[in-house]
Amino acid sequence: MRITTNRKHLKVNCTDVESVQEGEEIAKKLRLTCSIGTNLHAVGLAHNQVGGTKNVYVAKIDGKWEYFYNASIVDSSNEVLEHYEECMSYPGKPNGIQRHTWVTVRYLTNSGYKETKYYDMNAYIHQHEIDHINGYDIHNQKEK
Ligand SMILES: [Zn+2]
Repeated sequence: MRITTNRKHLKVNCTDVESVQEGEEIAKKLRLTCSIGTNLHAVGLAHNQVGGTKNVYVAKIDGKWEYFYNASIVDSSNEVLEHYEECMSYPGKPNGIQRHTWVTVRYLTNSGYKETKYYDMNAYIHQHEIDHINGYDIHNQKEK
């Protein structure tokens, strides 16, 4: 899979998968894409970044790759700070972004929907990827 810089793909509001199996097939390919050449420094990749349309992303949480399906943020800190981020869809064009210091993410697992609270870097990675899933990114932010 090739990472797209096409704004039309990046603005796709991704739709939920029907099953963990459907999500896993997509996530494995995303994970593989992150293991190639210049993508090796990646900490996350969302399906619409390779031209897809599903609510699936892979994220490096505490240094370990994890797969997320049908994810959404259900709670977040009042505190926000500006975090400087890079994005594989905008090579060489980092940007400072307002991020919550913690978020609670709801996502589909083999045992149904689960909620997990993430802090600091892990929270920033989830916010970055869930922005992608909703058609936003570091250069195209939702009005807050
Ligand atoms: Zn990105």
